Amino acid sequence: MKRLFALLTALLLLLTACAAPVSRQDREIFAMDTVIQLRVYDRDGAALDRLEAELMNLSRSLSAEDPAGGLYAINQAGGGTDAAVADLVRRAAALSQRTGGALDVGLHRASVAWGFPTGSFTVPSATDLADLDNRCGMDLISVSGDTLRLENGVELDLGAVAKGHAADRCRAILERAGVSGILSLGGNIQTVGKKPDGSDWTVALLDPSDGSSYLMTLSIPGTKAVVTSGDYQRYFERDGVRYCHILDPENLSPARSGLRAVTVVADEGFLADGLSTALFVMGRDRGIEFWRASNDFEAVWVLEDGTVTVTEGLEARTSYENAEVVRR
Ligand code: ADP
Ligand code: MG
Repeated sequence: MKRLFALLTALLLLLTACAAPVSRQDREIFAMDTVIQLRVYDRDGAALDRLEAELMNLSRSLSAEDPAGGLYAINQAGGGTDAAVADLVRRAAALSQRTGGALDVGLHRASVAWGFPTGSFTVPSATDLADLDNRCGMDLISVSGDTLRLENGVELDLGAVAKGHAADRCRAILERAGVSGILSLGGNIQTVGKKPDGSDWTVALLDPSDGSSYLMTLSIPGTKAVVTSGDYQRYFERDGVRYCHILDPENLSPARSGLRAVTVVADEGFLADGLSTALFVMGRDRGIEFWRASNDFEAVWVLEDGTVTVTEGLEARTSYENAEVVRR
């Protein structure tokens, strides 16, 4: 009898859990060098726990600055075997080729020379930059199977794609669990599935000239990555010049392409993240040509003079009224 009672209680608990209504659940964590906001529509906190564990893990393993992680060890040793890093570097190399070299995950030494990882900023001399030139760039990185080789002391920096990749991993976790949500990893927004009320997700883009108010919103149906690269969050100023953390691989110096920010909307986080960095380096006109030759993303460019250009796929999705619209 006692046993039967226990069984019935367990069954009842199980039924209640299944019938628990979906509710909005929020969590904020610090990982991948940024504040991450997770919002999911779930019956319990299980999905949030899984997302948090995955993000903490990736944060360590893909950081060029965390001595406890796998990427750090590879940089120190001039290579190593790591399936996840090898896969990301291979995909980054393909995107680098596609973007004419604007994306380059072999610039870590240059970032360090400018002081971006530490915050002790300096403007390197021309001699320093010439010396760095021999020790930076993806041409010094080779991948064979799961093994990486770094020549001439080149160091990997996956900062331009890591958050996008992390968003892809989070999306997969939520999709497997049948849970919808919206995740914000610094400038990376990932929407997953449908909002419970069926309406579109609203993604706000920060105003680069203010940084705390919004320039526009984008209404996003279903699952998408919306990723912004800009010069207004990680930068320093010297003698009236603004130096941002995105480097032009051509001269190993902060990109000065006339943009304040560029946002990419795509199906995949990795792609959106890699492209937002590359498009920031390219500037608007090269970026528009690149978009015309592509069919896997839409974009918003915010220029230094404050003007805004959007690709036609976003025309009906943006709240911004005076944008120039580019068409194919
Ligand atoms: P964030 O991650 O700060 O939102 P991005 O996705 O644009 O911005 O990535 C910028 C980071 O990528 C830099 O902090 C640096 O670590 C690295 N990086 C800088 N310039 C390049 C580049 N041209 N290609 C690839 N990575 C870059
Ligand atoms: Mg990026």
